[in-house]
Amino acid sequence: SKPIVAIVGRPNVGKSTLFNSLAGGNISIVKDTPGVTRDRIYADIEWLGRNFTLIDTGGIEPDSSDVILSQMREQAQIAIDTADVIIFITDVRQGLVDSDSKVADMLRRSHKPVVLVVNKVDNFDKLMPDVYEFYNLGIGDPVPISASSKLGIGDMLDEVSKYF
Ligand code: GDP
Ligand code: MG
Repeated sequence: SKPIVAIVGRPNVGKSTLFNSLAGGNISIVKDTPGVTRDRIYADIEWLGRNFTLIDTGGIEPDSSDVILSQMREQAQIAIDTADVIIFITDVRQGLVDSDSKVADMLRRSHKPVVLVVNKVDNFDKLMPDVYEFYNLGIGDPVPISASSKLGIGDMLDEVSKYF
């Protein structure tokens, strides 16, 4: 069967923007777990002849005890457990924050291949210096993208598809 690629990261880093730009119209929404407010959203993607299933997740706020946020964290953990490859997305505008480090710890525990993506790099010339701090996560080389401007997406998919 097709490899599964899950997009994880804190709320607001641009997971759904990335998902939508990759998925185009090819989206299936699954509402199956009673009490879990966030839907899991899947899309079938083809990149240079390779097919995979992409999952969007609601986001991970590692420290929150809020019911909805902890359900979102649970959904993200299910996506991580299901995935063959994880796209871990961060936000260059907010910079590296403590929650990113905690998500990185969760991902290390999964022992799954992770592609670290730094989003909102809308201007590569201007913002590249800010990308380098994400090396401090210790989870690999940061891949700069702009999900909304569709910059860096090809290089990101090249990194992802190295794992299948
Ligand atoms: P999610 O919570 O991780 O799914 O984040 P969303 O995809 O909903 O995006 C959160 C906000 O970031 C929205 O206002 C998006 O328009 C914005 N955003 C997403 N990608 C980019 C980007 O590449 N550049 C900029 N400047 N904003 C972005
Ligand atoms: Mg979202």
